[in-house]
Amino acid sequence: MQDYKKPIKMIDLAAEYQLYQPVLQEKIIQVLAKGNYINGDEVALFEQNLAHYLDVKHVISCGNGTDALQIALMALDIGNGDEVIIPAFTYIAAIEVVCLLGATPVLVDVDPVYFQMDPKALESAISKKTKAIIPVHLFGQCANLAEILQLAKQYQIPIIEDNAQALGSKYGIQEEPKFLGTFGEIGCTSFFPTKNLACFGDGGALFTNDDALAEKIRMIANHGQKEKYQHEMVGVNSRLDTLQAAILNFKLNHLAQQLSTKKQLANQYLKELSGLKGLILPQAFKESLHTWHQFTIQVAAKDRDPLKSFLSLKGIESMIYYPKAVDQQKAYQQYHQQLPIAKKLSSTVLSLPIHALMLPEEISYVCNQLKYFFNAQN
Ligand SMILES: *Cc1c(COP(=O)(O)O)cnc(C)c1O
Repeated sequence: MQDYKKPIKMIDLAAEYQLYQPVLQEKIIQVLAKGNYINGDEVALFEQNLAHYLDVKHVISCGNGTDALQIALMALDIGNGDEVIIPAFTYIAAIEVVCLLGATPVLVDVDPVYFQMDPKALESAISKKTKAIIPVHLFGQCANLAEILQLAKQYQIPIIEDNAQALGSKYGIQEEPKFLGTFGEIGCTSFFPTKNLACFGDGGALFTNDDALAEKIRMIANHGQKEKYQHEMVGVNSRLDTLQAAILNFKLNHLAQQLSTKKQLANQYLKELSGLKGLILPQAFKESLHTWHQFTIQVAAKDRDPLKSFLSLKGIESMIYYPKAVDQQKAYQQYHQQLPIAKKLSSTVLSLPIHALMLPEEISYVCNQLKYFFNAQN
């Protein structure tokens, strides 16, 4: 089989820049020329634009997605003696900020099909000390919100949605679908360059429909002050740069289109790979709009590394999200629990390239290589 003419990357940030270069350069130069690098007009404008897009009352921007999670916990006064429930198969940010604030993370397992927090495991982890639940909408897919929201209501525990990987994804429970990040008390996101809506550096935001929480979040992100030099509470310094806000204002206009292209590419993967023995395809949760932040297959543990090497030889990049369950990380070993599914997934998952500038023929090339790999085995 002939190799593809160029390497196939997980994401191609430089190509995206090339595509929008004339407009983006103009926007960047405008910010540079105006001189308001911190809290310039573009920041407030972006907060408004994103709030409008998500149909949420308040968007408060901040320095990055990890800060957003930390600020959310601070806004809910979470600290020493409090427990926060987190899925065990996710990026490290959530557990990190829980620990930084002196609270206790309680890890729960995920389900083997959708990779999301398992509501049954969640319910058995709830205690009198539980002060927040952080469902992570992993890989662009929604967590099992119907059940999680029901439990949160029953036990009166606030939800902080980690929506770093699923901005633009939706979920509908009986009614009109709504954007992820707008179901819990607070939603958090990241604009890291590989995320659904990405800037050219670090950036993040929090969403809420609660006026009082919004005000508190804004104060915390700004050194605990509302008025300059009146510090009413302990805060942090976490801001979205004016430059990044200008970039995001432009890119937000293209988000819906990019997500719809990615959906088509994901459907192509699903179609071309259907029935292939040796791998398990990802599934979209019903009543959800999956945005395919990652297209993650599962293979036998023995096949995973050979497959990754084989793809690499064929010029195809692939990534392992995540190579360890959270409690298998040295820093968080003390929070170890029986988490069989998270542990198993860490040795069987492989994420394939998917991004809005990928071509259908590139997806086909990846699929053909996968077919070659697995058919040669069987
Ligand atoms: C990227 C990510 C974060 C952190 O975002 P940063 O902007 O890199 O701090 C948090 N949670 C999840 C699930 C992520 O994927």
